[in-house]
Amino acid sequence: MITRDLFPLLQCPTCRSRDLYVAADGLHCASCANIYGFEDGYIDLMPRGADYGYVSKYVTDEAELAEELDYRDLAPPLLAAGVRDRALRRMMRWQPSDRVLDNGCGTAKHAVWNAPYVARMVGSDPATLFADEAVATVALTKADSRSLPFAEGSFDKAFAIDILEHFPIDVIDDYLAETARVLRPGGLMLAFSNTREMSPIQPVINLSRRLGRLFVRAGVYDFSREARRKSDHLKALETWEDVLEAFERAGLRPVRVIFWNSLFTTFVEHVLMKLGEAVMGRMKDEGGRMKPSKPKIHDDNADALHPSPFTLHPSPDGIAREIRARRRIRSQLRPGSPVYYALMAVTLLMELDLWLFGWMRCGSYFILVEKPR
Ligand SMILES: [Zn+2]
Repeated sequence: MITRDLFPLLQCPTCRSRDLYVAADGLHCASCANIYGFEDGYIDLMPRGADYGYVSKYVTDEAELAEELDYRDLAPPLLAAGVRDRALRRMMRWQPSDRVLDNGCGTAKHAVWNAPYVARMVGSDPATLFADEAVATVALTKADSRSLPFAEGSFDKAFAIDILEHFPIDVIDDYLAETARVLRPGGLMLAFSNTREMSPIQPVINLSRRLGRLFVRAGVYDFSREARRKSDHLKALETWEDVLEAFERAGLRPVRVIFWNSLFTTFVEHVLMKLGEAVMGRMKDEGGRMKPSKPKIHDDNADALHPSPFTLHPSPDGIAREIRARRRIRSQLRPGSPVYYALMAVTLLMELDLWLFGWMRCGSYFILVEKPR
C-alpha cells in the first residue's frame, strides 16, 4: 500500500534530493524533475536513467516467475519460511516504535507476518511480485537496493532474507552500504543467506538426500521446482570470513550469529514433505472431494516429451503437481486446523537444527549486525 507516513522518509533515488512533493500522478523531485508514479499498491521509486550491469533474474523473468512462484496468496509462516521468520522475530526483538525495512522483500511475506509488531513496515524490491496481503498491509516501494529511495537514518531495523546469495560482490557492497546508510546509528540489520561452506555433519545430512533420491528414481516426486528457485544463486561470499569482511566494509558490526546445519530440515524437505506433496498432488478433485488418481503407467514416449527427473531442466509436470499440492495444503491451512498444527510441528522439528547445532559453523547463517552509534 501507499501511506503518507512513508513520504517523510523518502529521498529521490536518482539525484538523492529530499526536495520531493506529492501530486496526483505521483511524487515529484523538485531537483531533477523526475516523477515517481503511484502504481497499484506501491510507489515506483526506481532510479531513472541508471544503467546497472547486474539485474536480478526476478526482474528479467518477472512475468514467467510470477506464474510459477504462485505468489499472490500467502500461507502462514510454516516450514523453512517459518523457521526463518521465527529466527527473525527472536533476533530482532521488535519494538512497537520500530520502523523496519524489508530490503529485497520479494512477495513481502516476512514483512506481512511481522508488520503487526512494529510501527511501520516497509517493503522494497525491484520486482513487484507482491502478495495481495502485502499490498493491503505493508508500505511497498519498487526500488533498487543500490540506490535506495530513503533518507539517511530512516529505519530502526532492516532485514535481508535470501538476498545476498543472488548478488555479485560489487552489488553486495552497494546493497550493504545503502542498508547501513538508511539505518539510524544503533540500528540493527539481520541477514539470512548462504556461503559455499559445508556443515561438519554434512555426511549425516546427506543420508536424507540419498533417501530422497531413491524416491526420485522411483518416480514418486522430483525437485524441479526447487531447482528453479535456486537457479540464480551466485554465493559470491564463499566463506564465513568473506561474510564478516563484507559487513565490516559496510561499517556494520556483528552482534549475533546462528548457523543452520540442516539435519532435521533436510529430512523434512527431501523426504517427509515431498512425500506429503506427492500424495496431495496426485489426488483429483471430484465433486469437491479429493480422491487418489490412478498411478501413471510408464510410457517411453511421455519420457521423450518430458525431461526425466535426473535432468536439471525443470519438468513442467512436477512443478504443476507441486503447485497443485501446495494450493490444496494451503486451502486447509487456517490457523487452528489439523493440517496447520501438523505443519507447525514439522516447523518446530526443523527449528531444532538451530537450537542444537546453531553454534556449529556451516554455509547457512543468520547474522545480526549493528550500525555503530
Ligand atoms: Zn531527483
